Amino acid sequence: MDFTTPEPILQLAARVEQFVQDEVIPLETETQHGATLSKARLAEVRAKAKAAGLWAPSMPAELGGLGLSILEQVPVFEAAGRSLLGPLAIQCNAPDEGNMHLLERFANDEQRERYLQPLVNGDRFSAFSMTEPPPGAGSDPTMLRTTARRAGADWILNGHKWFSSNGLVADFLIIMARHDDDSHAHQGATLFLTPIDAPGIEIIRDVPTMGQQDFGGHIEMRYHDLRLPASAVLGEPGQGFALAQHRLGPARLTHCMRWTGIAQRALEIATDYASRREAFGKTLAEQGVIQSMLADSDIELHAGRLMTQQAAWLLEQGERARRETSICKVFVSESVHRILDRAIQICGGSGYSRDLPLANWFETARAFRIYDGASEVHRMVIARYLRRNYGAVDA
Ligand SMILES: Cc1cc2nc3c(=O)[nH]c(=O)nc-3n(C[C@H](O)[C@H](O)[C@H](O)COP(=O)(O)OP(=O)(O)OC[C@H]3O[C@@H](n4cnc5c(N)ncnc54)[C@H](O)[C@@H]3O)c2cc1C
Repeated sequence: MDFTTPEPILQLAARVEQFVQDEVIPLETETQHGATLSKARLAEVRAKAKAAGLWAPSMPAELGGLGLSILEQVPVFEAAGRSLLGPLAIQCNAPDEGNMHLLERFANDEQRERYLQPLVNGDRFSAFSMTEPPPGAGSDPTMLRTTARRAGADWILNGHKWFSSNGLVADFLIIMARHDDDSHAHQGATLFLTPIDAPGIEIIRDVPTMGQQDFGGHIEMRYHDLRLPASAVLGEPGQGFALAQHRLGPARLTHCMRWTGIAQRALEIATDYASRREAFGKTLAEQGVIQSMLADSDIELHAGRLMTQQAAWLLEQGERARRETSICKVFVSESVHRILDRAIQICGGSGYSRDLPLANWFETARAFRIYDGASEVHRMVIARYLRRNYGAVDA
C-alpha cells in the first residue's frame, strides 16, 4: 500500500484538530462529574462544525457529508477523537456513524429518506440493538433469543436487550432478531428498523457504567409483541448476521481511529508534565525511565496507526480483512489502555485526580476492550486463521 496521506486529507485533519481545540475541548468542563453535554450545547457546536465544512466526514456528499473513504477517515477521525466530544460534534460518533454506514449500504429508498437522511443531518439519533443479557447474545451472537414471528405481512418481535448505546436520545432502533420458525440462527436473523416510541418497546433503564456518562447512555429494554411492517426489514429477511458484519468491520476500525486521538492527547499531556516537573535535580523528562515510558507510548501509537491504515486499505480493496481488523482492535484497545495508564503514572497525583482528563479517559477506554468484540474473542478469530493455515485440524 501507499502510505502517503493526500495533502487535502492532511489539511482537513488539521482543520478538524483546530476545531476540536477551539470549540470542543472548552465544552469538556460541562461533562465532568457524571454530567452529559446538553442537547442545546451540542446543537450549537454542531452548527459551527457544519459552517466550518467539517460535517459527517464519512457520508457521501449527496447526503451532506464529506465523502471520505475509510482510509481517508483515519487521520480525520483521530483528530476528532482528541476529545470524547469531538466525534459527536462533527458527526462521526458511535453508534450513529456505524449505523449511517450500514443504512447507506443497505437501506432502500424509503428507509434512506425516513431514517438515513435525518440521521446524517444530525436531526435524529439512532441505536443498534443486538446485545442481550445472559443467557442471550453477547460475545456469541448466535445465542440470539429475541424472536421475530411472521404475522401475515407483519412481524411480531419479543425479546430483551441491553447496552443499546444512544438509547436515551435515539429516535429509532436497528434491532437484531431471529425468526422463531428457524432453528439455524445464522440464517434466521434479520435486522429491523423501528421508531423507538413504537408500541411494545419498554425502556427499562440506562445501565450505569464506569467512565464518562455517554451522551445517549446504554439502555436496557424489552420488546413485548412489537408489531413491525414488512417495510421495517433492513436488507432481506435472514441477512441479519451478514449485514451486522458489514457494520462491525469498519466500526471496529473507526473506534481505533477515535481512541488514537485520545491516546495521542494523553501522551502530549504526560510529555508536557514530565518536561516541567522536576524531581531529584532534573526534570522527569530527563529521567531515563520516564523517557522509556514516553517512547513506548509513541511506539504503540505509531504501530496502531499503521495497523489501522492497513486494515482500512484492505477493506477498500474489497477484502473482509477479518484477521487484520481483529489484530487492529486487540492491539489498539490494549495499547490505548497502556498509554493512558503510563500517562497517569507520569503525571503522579495530578494524573489520578480529576483536574486532568486522564482518569476519565482511562475509565471510559476500559469498555473498548469489551465492546465490538472482547479481546479474547478477537484472539480466537486470529487463532482460527492460524489453525486454518498452519494447524493440523479444520477450525
Ligand atoms: C460501553 C458499551 C457500549 C456497548 N454498546 C453496544 C451497542 O450499542 N449495541 C449492542 O448491541 N451492544 C453494545 N455493547 C455490548 C457489547 O458488544 C458486549 O458487551 C460484548 O459483545 C460482550 O458481550 P457480553 O457483555 O455479553 O459478554 P459475555 O459474552 O458474557 O463475555 C464475557 C467475557 O467472556 C470472555 N469471553 C467471551 N468469549 C470468549 C472466548 N471465546 N474465549 C475466551 N474468553 C471469552 C471475554 O473476556 C468477555 O469479556 C456495548 C458494551 C459496552 C460495554
